Amino acid sequence: SLARQALERLEGDKVEDTTEPQNIEELKRKGTLHKQRLKLVLEQLKKSGASKVLDLGCGEGKLIQLLLKEKQFTQITGVDVSYTELTKAKERLYWNEMAPKQKERLQLFQGALTYIDKRLEGYDAAALVEVIEHLDENRLQAFERVIFEFAQPQTVIITTPNSEYNVLFENMETATMRHKDHRFEWTRSEFESWANNIAEKNSYKVEFLPIGEVAENVGAPSQMGIFTYEN
Ligand code: SAH
Repeated sequence: SLARQALERLEGDKVEDTTEPQNIEELKRKGTLHKQRLKLVLEQLKKSGASKVLDLGCGEGKLIQLLLKEKQFTQITGVDVSYTELTKAKERLYWNEMAPKQKERLQLFQGALTYIDKRLEGYDAAALVEVIEHLDENRLQAFERVIFEFAQPQTVIITTPNSEYNVLFENMETATMRHKDHRFEWTRSEFESWANNIAEKNSYKVEFLPIGEVAENVGAPSQMGIFTYEN
């Protein structure tokens, strides 16, 4: 309903994807892109050697589902501002029926990434998959401090759409965004300069990877920054 949508918006919640896939091909492409993205994030988390990981803005828990399959990850924590998404995550992960040993590895809690939170400290790595574009731009600085200055995991992985690629989505009008709830979408250079600046200020180094097939001139549909803390 409209009221629910309005409420969810106030909560900073996810609103349904309004860029309806135009055809079956696009539908498949979208599904595959997210799978590809999660796979790449998982690979990077494994490569980082992390055992305690945070999935920040975990949504319905798709990444957590993959993390649980890997023995390397001994503590997995999903955080989301939306109670609705956390409930979906619990369903997806069969939380109620989960074996005690498995449950010990997993924590889910409600939290906002723009407020300092002690519960985010002490982790080796944090993933933020398609989350930053849901934050108001004027809250990004708060977010940056919460993650890079206070929580300060050894590795931080951030993915976000590459707006340059939008011209290739058939059904998108120019200057619109991929989701109604996106507050911004950045070009590669916008993302990279934001990330480089954060890295420099907080003693991290950052590398970038494309997500999805790289198209001429516009790059890949999504982009990833891998931050590593330099002790
Ligand atoms: N990472 C998931 C979900 C991405 S959608 C995936 O890739 O499938 C973005 C998610 O960020 C939503 O679940 C939304 O509820 C959450 N979110 C938005 N603003 C947030 C905030 N300030 N703090 C924590 N989570 C937030």
